[in-house]
Amino acid sequence: MPAIDYLRISLIDRCNFRCQYCMPEGADLAYALQQDWLTRAELRHLLRDVFIPLGFTRFRLTGGEPLLRPDIVEIVQDITALPATQDLAITTNAFLLAKRAQALWDAGLRRINISLDSLDPDTFGKIIGRPSVALWHQVWAGIQTAHQIGFSPLKLNVVVIPGVNDGEVLDLAALTRDRDWHVRFIEFMPIGNGDLFASQGWVASEILRQQIRDRWGLEAGSVRGNGPADVFKIPGAQGTVGFISQMSECFCDRCNRMRLSADGWLRPCLLNETGQINLRALLRDDVPMEALRDRVSELVFAKPEINFKMRESGTTGAYSRTMSQIGG
Ligand code: SAM
Ligand code: SF4
Repeated sequence: MPAIDYLRISLIDRCNFRCQYCMPEGADLAYALQQDWLTRAELRHLLRDVFIPLGFTRFRLTGGEPLLRPDIVEIVQDITALPATQDLAITTNAFLLAKRAQALWDAGLRRINISLDSLDPDTFGKIIGRPSVALWHQVWAGIQTAHQIGFSPLKLNVVVIPGVNDGEVLDLAALTRDRDWHVRFIEFMPIGNGDLFASQGWVASEILRQQIRDRWGLEAGSVRGNGPADVFKIPGAQGTVGFISQMSECFCDRCNRMRLSADGWLRPCLLNETGQINLRALLRDDVPMEALRDRVSELVFAKPEINFKMRESGTTGAYSRTMSQIGG
């Protein structure tokens, strides 16, 4: 079991997109009340006095859409200013990135993952539930801005859905040939939209890998912070292609992450909430830091037993929370 040193922090559970696979239009989503969001000061306090003393050094800001959080730049500043921080990254849909990338860079952020499920503006609009061609161009402008400012590695996340965007795998992989970009294909999970999962199914990474190998060949690759992705490179390419295969492989035994939701719930696993702790309530009840550290430490210690182990459990049954609610 690896050291548990990585915290994914959801800053907000709301989003300006409605990706079909994540939070489709009309889904009955219960949002956290804004007064229950962890404040900037609470987050700083938790990282400095609870997580860092327990050995956490790597953080990712996510959501929902983290760039919707008005104090995102200040939160980045706080985290990069903590001497123990070894790595900070953000996962975003890039809709607001062209506007905010420079301020995020100035605050010390260097790493960004961006969701980009299609290169075709029409298909993109359908996937994100906002059928406007202009949105793809705005997201693309955000990616270009981040690239020009120097964010690196710049990763693009693609959830592959049969019949929706699986015909674009080669075009998306080709982006890595003359750009230092890292395209990661993610297996669609039955979280967020069980109906879409039931109707479309999912594509195993191995099939996509073979398509790319047949076209250009593939060799071993690497990229900083590759997490659970298997990383390859098209020969001669500047960037890499990665595959995140949580449906066809179980990587629970390599999982080094805990998840903190926007309203302060600390969860040991994406799909298993056993032992979850409401850190917001404890903080607001003035529970001493030492007691908070003890609670978190117990949960970290219990994590290997709690991990969901989708494969061993023999089920991929749809889960009641979406990625946007848990902090994807
Ligand atoms: N809004 C940001 C974004 O889209 O990048 C961050 C939050 S989003 C929940 C984080 C990641 O979760 C995205 O890369 C998204 O593609 C992934 N995701 C959401 N629902 C998923 C599902 N059902 N299967 C696989 N990945 C999913
Ligand atoms: Fe929003 Fe990200 Fe979910 Fe799409 S994947 S709906 S952008 S939170």
